[in-house]
Amino acid sequence: MSHAIPIAVIGAGYAGLSCAVELVGRGFAVSVFESSRIPGGRARVVAVGGLALDNGQHVLLGAYRETLRMMRRVGANPERLLLRRPLNLCYPNEFELTAARVRPPFNLILGLLRARGVSWMERRAVVRLMSALRRTGFAVAGDQTVASLLGEAGQPPRLCQLLWEPLCVSALNTPPEQASAQVFANVLKDALFDDGTSSDMLLPRTDLTRLFPQPAVEWLQRQGHTVWLGEPVRRIVQGKSGFTIESGRGPLPERYAGVVIATAPYHAATLLEELPETFAQKSQISALDWEPIYTVYLAYPEGTRLPAPMVGMTGGFGQWAFDRGQLGGPSGLLAVVISASGRHQAIQRDDLSQVLHSELCGIVAGLPPPRWTQMIAEKRATFSCRPGLQRPSVQTDMDGIFLCGDYTQSPYPATLESAVRSGVACALAVEAASRG
Ligand SMILES: Cc1cc2nc3c(=O)[nH]c(=O)nc-3n(C[C@H](O)[C@H](O)[C@H](O)COP(=O)(O)OP(=O)(O)OC[C@H]3O[C@@H](n4cnc5c(N)ncnc54)[C@H](O)[C@@H]3O)c2cc1C
Repeated sequence: MSHAIPIAVIGAGYAGLSCAVELVGRGFAVSVFESSRIPGGRARVVAVGGLALDNGQHVLLGAYRETLRMMRRVGANPERLLLRRPLNLCYPNEFELTAARVRPPFNLILGLLRARGVSWMERRAVVRLMSALRRTGFAVAGDQTVASLLGEAGQPPRLCQLLWEPLCVSALNTPPEQASAQVFANVLKDALFDDGTSSDMLLPRTDLTRLFPQPAVEWLQRQGHTVWLGEPVRRIVQGKSGFTIESGRGPLPERYAGVVIATAPYHAATLLEELPETFAQKSQISALDWEPIYTVYLAYPEGTRLPAPMVGMTGGFGQWAFDRGQLGGPSGLLAVVISASGRHQAIQRDDLSQVLHSELCGIVAGLPPPRWTQMIAEKRATFSCRPGLQRPSVQTDMDGIFLCGDYTQSPYPATLESAVRSGVACALAVEAASRG
């Protein structure tokens, strides 16, 4: 593979753009193709109620080191664009745990000592589980579900409901009864046992497209590389020396030394269809299941505030409520998130919004009815992170064809960080292949 002939990157989500930026840094020419006019993929801005809002509320962690590095690389300043706060799990009037900003394990120990609404028996149970995981180097023998790990470690039901289940569902977007305990342990290790800031929550103060995708597109263009927006790729065609692409405009004349498919897995499967040597990757993708994430926006009168920018909800359908007004958005706009599959999927949109409003009334006294509500249901938000999943490698069995995205091989669940890391790993694989 030559450095002189460009690499085509299909998909301008966090993975594809990270891959393109990393490739450019390693001396490659790139052309990026994105079917939407707006870059960002599953983390992008959309128009809601006349406002520019995200397709889903996102939270980043201090442990997202590659995402933060990529943002800086393209000139997006994380300190300005993200609100950094210590990890705080707060259910008003019921439970509050804030990780202390000291080195592990004291961040958790101190956090537990200061926690509100936790019995000593529950505190001991947390320490018992974390100590057991640390003893094994966070390796879960034979992988199992999070629910079975919690059961074996004797975690009290209330602790599961207020701490472990919300953490599992938020991090893995998979219910504890189905989620991989090994991936959950990997997340706990990186978030809680790396350093005192890796568990910090980073809340976007801008929309998700402006957080990284748009600056990345502009950075690539400034370096003289092409980014085609509104340009869906229909087919990848292998020629004698390299590949050509068929887009919505028909076959394109340019030749590419390699092609990185950086789409969501269900779209990658379609593009791989006519590339017979990628059979193994296609079957790994077809074994994946999906989990939804619902974000419901509720617009209240100006001045309506939650007690904090992010508040836990328990005992109903809502899991987390975000105060967009405290995050650079319009005052009074709240976003409620429901991750993973569950009984909320059986409820009509309007009814669900009404129920969530009632739940918010338990947090904000005297809350009037919302002026408007809008629900965004991402039905295939992420793959379902189950035990023993075989995720495809960035390197396929076909020379010159690569994959990247949040679903490729990684110790982590589908997140922005795993998307970015896979983009970087894919660029390294392209470079290794180019050396022969
Ligand atoms: C509602 C929601 C909430 C989430 N919350 C969080 C969170 O709080 N924290 C977190 O870390 N992660 C969260 N995630 C997960 C995170 O958004 C994803 O893991 C990440 O965005 C995936 O990035 P990607 O680049 O791998 O794929 P994608 O974002 O899916 O990017 C793929 C791109 O390829 C394009 N494409 C597809 N087919 C073609 C084609 N034929 N030609 C050209 N382009 C094509 C698509 O338009 C898209 O832009 C959430 C996801 C959702 C949906």
